[in-house]
Amino acid sequence: MLLLPWEPPGVSPYIAPMARLGSWIESHPEGIYVKPADAWIDPSQPKPKAMITHGHADHARGGHGAVLATPETLAIMECRYGPQSGQGAAYDETMRIGEVDVRFVPAGHVLGSAQIVLEHKGERIVVSGDYKRRPDPTCACFVPVPCDVFITEATFGLPVFRHPETGSEIDRLLHRLHADPSRCVLVGAYALGKAQRIVNELRQRGHHEPIYYHGAIERLNQLYESFGIDLGELRQTAQATKMEMAGHVVIAPPGALNDRWSRRLPDPVTAMASGWMRIRQRARQRNVELPLIISDHADWDELTMTIRELEPTEVWITHGREEALKHWCMTHQIKACELNLIGYEDEDS
Ligand SMILES: [Zn+2]
Ligand SMILES: [Zn+2]
Repeated sequence: MLLLPWEPPGVSPYIAPMARLGSWIESHPEGIYVKPADAWIDPSQPKPKAMITHGHADHARGGHGAVLATPETLAIMECRYGPQSGQGAAYDETMRIGEVDVRFVPAGHVLGSAQIVLEHKGERIVVSGDYKRRPDPTCACFVPVPCDVFITEATFGLPVFRHPETGSEIDRLLHRLHADPSRCVLVGAYALGKAQRIVNELRQRGHHEPIYYHGAIERLNQLYESFGIDLGELRQTAQATKMEMAGHVVIAPPGALNDRWSRRLPDPVTAMASGWMRIRQRARQRNVELPLIISDHADWDELTMTIRELEPTEVWITHGREEALKHWCMTHQIKACELNLIGYEDEDS
């Protein structure tokens, strides 16, 4: 099914509709199809040719015929799905795919994450994937690429979402840790990206004690280290005694926070690192005692700042809270519409 990405509002029968931008790119429920390249971006179904923005499971699925992604994203996919018949795309290298010039540019979201810049017949479309603008020591910084059409995520596309400074959230964590050396602080953080970022941010704040981790994070920790990200001394909880973990930070996937596994920990203070922790109710639902507002997605200010900076003629919005951002674009004389892609899920972002 072909969904028109944008219909001009209020076109009277006497005015010819303007030529629509991006007529060579199609939005389907299972992903974005780039016609003149005969390739899909982040499809949720197996496709013969897939260009992948980053390794999160809602964007990178297994089973594609051929994958074009950064070497880091390919490595993450191989770690999850086994060998990929793929091609590594270094940042900023332009490749010709069919009749489209394609370039992967850093998105600042997780290791290897990329925006995909597409150029065809003088028109430039940027597909952001997921992104953030604040510094993250575990991945390359977002690079703004001015464009005609910007396809943006809007996971936190409401003015209520304003993420605080990461450093101050990490300091709250450390303060809590030092307040009671008989307990540990158990931080829920998703396994790809957030977990390694929390560890690295702790190191940057001068915390050099061993950090304990749930076994489910081990392979991704190793993968990050293999790409040169320093995580310091890590120990797996399965090989530690309860006593020895007192006074230390423990990192686990969010799903493990309230399960049997956590009983082996010394009276944990349950924390969770996510943009959703801005919403108290979400923290309560997960029995989170120490909500840490640390996100790998742009907050409201970062979203609007980015659109201002790129000055696109049109903005197409994916991932959730599209309405407010669409309205913001309209009031800034930028055409905007939502793309109804299914399967994008950022529950623990
Ligand atoms: Zn993501
Ligand atoms: Zn996403």
